[in-house]
Parts: sequence; structure tokens; C-alpha cells
Amino acid sequence: MEKNSSSAAVPKFPEQVTGMYISAQALKRAGIKDVYGLVGIPVTEAAFAMQKVGLNFYGFRFEQQAGMAAATHGFLTKTPGVLLTVSSLGFMNGLTATANANVNCYPMIQISGASDPAMVDMNVGTYEQLDQLNTARPLVKAAFRCSSAKDIPAAVARAYRAAVSGRPGGVYIDMATPALGEVLDASEAEKLFFTPTDPYSATAPNEAAVERAVELLTTAKKPAILLGKGAAYAQVDDKIKTLVEKYNIPYLAMSMAKGLMPDNGPLSALSCRSTIMEQADVVMVIGARINWMLSFGKGKWNKEGKFIQLDVEPQEIDRNVAIAAPVVGDMGLALDMILAKMEGKSMSADPAWVGSLQAESKEKNAKFARRIAEASTAMPMNHWTALSAIKPVLEGNPDVILVNEGANTLDDTRDAVDMSLPRHRIDCASWSIMGMGMGSTVGAAVATGKSVVAVEGDSAFGFSGMDFATACRYKLPVTVVIFNNGGIYNGIAENPGGGDQPAPTTLDIHARYDLIGKAFGADSYYVENPADLKKALEAAIASRRPTIIDVQLAADSGKESGHIGYLNPQPLIEYVV
Ligand code: ADP
Ligand code: MG
Repeated sequence: MEKNSSSAAVPKFPEQVTGMYISAQALKRAGIKDVYGLVGIPVTEAAFAMQKVGLNFYGFRFEQQAGMAAATHGFLTKTPGVLLTVSSLGFMNGLTATANANVNCYPMIQISGASDPAMVDMNVGTYEQLDQLNTARPLVKAAFRCSSAKDIPAAVARAYRAAVSGRPGGVYIDMATPALGEVLDASEAEKLFFTPTDPYSATAPNEAAVERAVELLTTAKKPAILLGKGAAYAQVDDKIKTLVEKYNIPYLAMSMAKGLMPDNGPLSALSCRSTIMEQADVVMVIGARINWMLSFGKGKWNKEGKFIQLDVEPQEIDRNVAIAAPVVGDMGLALDMILAKMEGKSMSADPAWVGSLQAESKEKNAKFARRIAEASTAMPMNHWTALSAIKPVLEGNPDVILVNEGANTLDDTRDAVDMSLPRHRIDCASWSIMGMGMGSTVGAAVATGKSVVAVEGDSAFGFSGMDFATACRYKLPVTVVIFNNGGIYNGIAENPGGGDQPAPTTLDIHARYDLIGKAFGADSYYVENPADLKKALEAAIASRRPTIIDVQLAADSGKESGHIGYLNPQPLIEYVV
């Protein structure tokens, strides 16, 4: 075995411990069980120390994907996902995921090895020199630097509290090399640990806010509830179910809140989004931000309509549209207070409101079913042909977690597959990014022990594909389904300059993604028709083995940017996608 070649005194375990070991202990004592990361100087031993104290360490091929796993872990468990990175580039690769977690309100802690701050500050040009603390600071909720091993227990405890409390988010700990290597007597180190009291301290909204919200909701003629991923995250499933069912209020779910209440339930207004926007007079927004995904509360929205908004973050209120009844506080406490106040009250909703939405849903759903049925025979397959096979399998296995990214692959899968359980859909979320797939897939499998199916566009898969190998190495019950239409959006674009280089959106329609499975010992399938796809997906889920399914689509299936092409500036040159 290669010995540490450093000239510093060799610590004597167990009488002495180092910062590495203290970090592992601090995480363990905070209740962390799983850590995601990618090791190298100076944190390699930190990951071994984690395993030694009984934590699971999931080693990835790319730090960003380890970070996506940690972020997804945080979303699904309400406890921080932990990411370990090396200094400089590893830190930055991981930071993209931490920033994304922060934007999406997922609790996460990135711990990164870092060069000696004294050397960084004097700009001496040391190994992997980067002012990581200040690089991270504007992108995270809180940032701490441990310059001494003595700082580590407090940094971990405070990072944990910062990640989960108030609006959850991404937190950074800069673990300077001198702190990682510092030797302490074990008995001295022991005194540094403490158990934080009430690390998630839920704050209740005030009575007047609750009363105002209840008054507005109960007097509404056309009430509706809009569920966001903050509601899914908060794990208040029963309270939401009571509110919806006892008071007969139709609901709409944002993409990651799908399944919190069943998509195909009698009060689901998923197919009547426009009608809700245009007609509802009171919309209770629960854990969703009224951002670009909701047209900033403008445009189509009823100008006379009023919003009730439940959110833990006061600065979210009035962000784009005035909120008539803000209820600021923890979702669980807020819903408890609202339900208590509603007890004995009746709703004044227009008796025709729910019925008209149900009639509209019925009609729209029938039309949608016809569209899928018609597509089911197309050869070569398009997105809808493939979904005609995938939809019944996933709906028949509701406990499988669906990870989904792409452009058309994202839009069409979201629309096609009804979810019926909370927190079973993970997608590219608020930033609408590409490149969360394999990390989120691994994180979801580890955090829940459940089977995970990732439905990925061929382009989307490319961002994180190497970390399918991570799912294989840890033998996770993961299936990756790749919709190959040969390109970003699709595979038919031409180079407008006339040369023989591929167009910017063109990938490879003949790529055999299933062969990646062969390389890493996964089961693999290449399918060209819906019957084979259905069979492969069923077998993959039943096997609980890592599986990759290459789904051959037509190159002209899909349009540019899927549903959000309108976000592009007006084009100057003509190009076909
Ligand atoms: P979506 O993308 O589904 O619309 P967003 O991420 O935009 O959801 O919004 C989630 C909202 O939920 C955020 O404003 C966040 O502050 C809020 N939130 C997250 N956790 C809680 C909680 N435990 N209690 C109350 N609000 C929460
Ligand atoms: Mg594609």
C-alpha cells in the first residue's frame, strides 16, 4: 500500500485524529448516512474515513453529477444531501449542482477540499489555487471556511441548520488542507462535537394571515389550489389531501408536485390549466413560485383573481403579482392552522365550477388518449409512439421514481405519464437545465431504495451519461430509457453555411446507447417498436438491475425547444429544426 508521502508527523489512531476523520464523524453525528463525491488531493482520505465510520460513500465520475445526486437526496428526504469535492475544478464542477440546488430550494451541503487560504490570499500560485469561498458565496445560501480542524464540527452543524431551515438551499463548506490534515488528540476532538437543538425549527404563520386566507378561500366562487415542489418537499401529503377532498377544491400541480395528489383524481385540473388561469377567482398557491413557469401571474391569469400564497420565504410574496393573502411560515404548521380555522366552515364555490372542470378534463383526456393511440403505430417511432408503451408500464408501477429530462422528451413524458404518488417525479426544475439525469437517478435510488426510471432525450443523456457507470458500480435498481432522435430537439437540421460539418443541433441518430450498458455490465436493449419497448421496460423494472434501453426514434420527431421555443429571441437566419 502506498504510504502518505507528506513529511508531517504521522497521526497515531485512535489516540489521535485528523480533520478528515473529524469531518466524517461530524457528518455521522448529524445523522447523515450517504455522501456523494469524487475524490483526489486533498480529500481522498476523507472519503475513506467516511466509510470507516460507517457512512456510505458514492463515488462518481463527474462532480456535477455527484452534486445532482446530493440535491435529489435532499429534495426527497428533507435532510441535506452531502457532496464531497476536490479543490479548484472539482469544486467548481460540484458548485454548479450546489447552485442549482440552491435555486430549487433543495437542502444540500457541498464540502470541498481547498488550498491553504493563507497561500491563496497571497496569490503564491499553490496547487489548485482558487479562492473557493468567495467563488461559492454568491451562489449559495451560506458558506463557511474551516481553517482549523477545531472548526469542523460547528461548521457541519451550522451548515446542516442553514440547509434545511427557512427556505432550504445549498450550503458550502471550504475545508482548507491544513484543517483536513491537522492532528488533534481524540479526547480533545470529542469535546468539539455537540448535538444541535431543533436543527429545523418550524415557524408558524400568524393568526391574522391564516384568517385572511381562510376567509378568501371559503368565499371564493371558483377556487383552485396550485401545488409546487415546495409542497411536495414539505411532506405534508395528508394535510393537502384533506384540504382538497374535504372542501372539494380542484388542483393543478407543477411538474415536480405531480402525484402529490393523483394526476388522474376527480379533482385534478391538470388538463384545464388555461381555464384555471383564466377563470379561477381565488388560487391558493402552495409551495410554488409565481415565476416564468406561471407567466409571472400575468398574461392569461384572471385580472380579477386573487392569490393566497403559502411559503416559508417572506421575500417570495408579491414578487411578480400582489398576493392578497400571504401565509408565511412552515407549510405543515400553516396547513394545520388553515385546516383548524376551516373546521365547521363551508365553501361558497359555484356549484357548477368543479363539474365544468371535470367535463373539460374528460374531453381533453379523451383527445389526449386518441393522440397517443394514433401515434402508437408510427414507424419509425416518434416520442408519442414510445410513450404509448412507457405510459402504461410506469402508471402500472406507481412506486417507481421517474427522472425526466430533455426538450420534447421532457414535455411529452410529463404530459403523458400520470403520477399518483408524491415525490416520484424528479426533473430539471426551476432553471429548466439539461444535465441532471444520471446524478438525480442515482440520488433517488440511494435516498429511497426504490426503483428509478430515467426517461432521457439523447442530448440530455450526453451531459451525464458517464455516471450511468456509477449506477452500475453500486448495483442500483435503475433503468435509463434514451429517446434517440439524433439531436438536440431533433436530428434533421442542416448546416446553413453549406459545409459538411453537422448542424449545431445534430447528434447521432445511429448511436447505439445500449452498448454503454455492455461496457459496464448492465442489461441492455435496443428497441425500434413500442411492443419491444414495453417488454424491455417491464423486464428492467422487475429485475431491479441497472438497465439501459436505447429507443430508436425518427430523426424528425420533436420540435425546437419543445414547449418553450417562445423563450428564444427572434431568429435572424433561417434554420430548420
Ligand atoms: P415549483 O417549481 O414546483 O413551482 P418552486 O421551487 O418554484 O416550486 O417553489 C417552491 C417554494 O416552496 C419556494 O418558494 C420555497 O420557499 C417553498 N418552500 C420550500 N419548502 C417549504 C416548507 N417546508 N414550508 C413552506 N414553504 C416551503
Ligand atoms: Mg434528441
